[in-house]
Amino acid sequence: MYNHKAPEYSIQTRINPINRRILPNAPSQNEKSEKARILPGMTRFAFFVIGKALVLLHLLVGIQAWGKEGHYVICKIAEGLLTKDATAAVKMLLPDTAEGDLAAVCSWADEIRFYYKWRWSSPLHYVDTPDFKCNYDYSRDCHDPAGNRDRCVSGAIYNYSTQLVSYQESKDEWKYNLTEALMFLSHFIGDIHQPLHVGFLGDEGGNTIIVRWYRRKTNLHHVWDTMIIESALKKFYDSDLDSMIRSIQNNILEGWSEDIPLWENCVTNCTVCPDPYASESVRLACKFAYRNATPGVTLTDDYFLTRLPIVEKRLAQGGVRLAATLNRIFAPHPLISQE
Ligand SMILES: [Zn+2]
Repeated sequence: MYNHKAPEYSIQTRINPINRRILPNAPSQNEKSEKARILPGMTRFAFFVIGKALVLLHLLVGIQAWGKEGHYVICKIAEGLLTKDATAAVKMLLPDTAEGDLAAVCSWADEIRFYYKWRWSSPLHYVDTPDFKCNYDYSRDCHDPAGNRDRCVSGAIYNYSTQLVSYQESKDEWKYNLTEALMFLSHFIGDIHQPLHVGFLGDEGGNTIIVRWYRRKTNLHHVWDTMIIESALKKFYDSDLDSMIRSIQNNILEGWSEDIPLWENCVTNCTVCPDPYASESVRLACKFAYRNATPGVTLTDDYFLTRLPIVEKRLAQGGVRLAATLNRIFAPHPLISQE
């Protein structure tokens, strides 16, 4: 049981201002004011055109959140830890295009968020916390930029977990699209483990902190979504994602094995518990992501080699906790209540 009323937003509800988590680099001041200027008079058609343009931009420069690789790793780890009941439910709910592989659709939520129809889902990928406080509080922080409560990554995890529990009812009783709920939940449990998805409001989770990653100009958020993983793949895994996944799985079985029951457990014995994950993330953001990453700095081996273990552990925790959550949801008698 949990106290938060699960928001029901599997329907198209609202259009929020331009989503700011989509930018590979922070927009210049001119770009920002340009957006502000054109927004009020924007028509439905203009939203559509801009949505399409953003999708194109996304395809051209590969903008992702916890990049595609990160989400793939988390879902692959989770798949290996699902119970028989959960595996059957997941396979039943996956779209045909996934061909039975949850990891194949774990970036779906990022791919669709640029479309007009799905723009309402953009604030569900992160939660902003007060600058330099290094803590997170659901009732204080979980809202979208317009102030609508529960519309943040942890609210979304509560919401889609609650929706998925109706899997236990007969199919005609399902009120929600449980395929979408599964794909959203699998993605958001990944996102909440990326420390800068629970970053500071003032720098938009590191999006406005422009840095160089070795020789490449980028922003701090993107470093944590993508660049650390990409560099690790090249440097340590012969550009082979499966080899990185195997290495993390080995650590789960060996180095971290004693921690796994703690990772899996929900403190209050509920079916889902995203709040501790968010608290961990903002603490890691302060201790590792923001540290020595001031605007204009060039990040190289010192930063990379000390942050990579954090990234790999967060991918492992994301995978273990996604599996544990799905195992609880699809257990014959789940604990979660539907409010
Ligand atoms: Zn995301």
